[in-house]
Amino acid sequence: MKRLTVTEKLAQNKYELDDGHPHIVVHNEVCEAECKIRACLFVCPAEVYSEQNGKIVADWAGCLECGTCTVACPPQALHWEYPRGGFGIIYRYG
Ligand code: SF4
Repeated sequence: MKRLTVTEKLAQNKYELDDGHPHIVVHNEVCEAECKIRACLFVCPAEVYSEQNGKIVADWAGCLECGTCTVACPPQALHWEYPRGGFGIIYRYG
């Protein structure tokens, strides 16, 4: 039996998109006032965050719900909550 790589395992996951109800909201006014390092661009394993025209944008549909960004970002720069019941990531391999 072939062993799957981490990337192959992650590709097996499913995501139920809660369209119109983002579970991540970026408060760019806080980013601009308090954050010089933009850690979210580097710590997220799913590369959810990007910088577009100087603003941080979250493509929340790919979130793995690991919570790393909530630790890395300054207080109140992110509003993050788990997706509503039945939505979000569905792991196939734990
Ligand atoms: Fe990325 Fe994890 Fe934050 Fe989701 S919870 S945006 S996967 S760092």
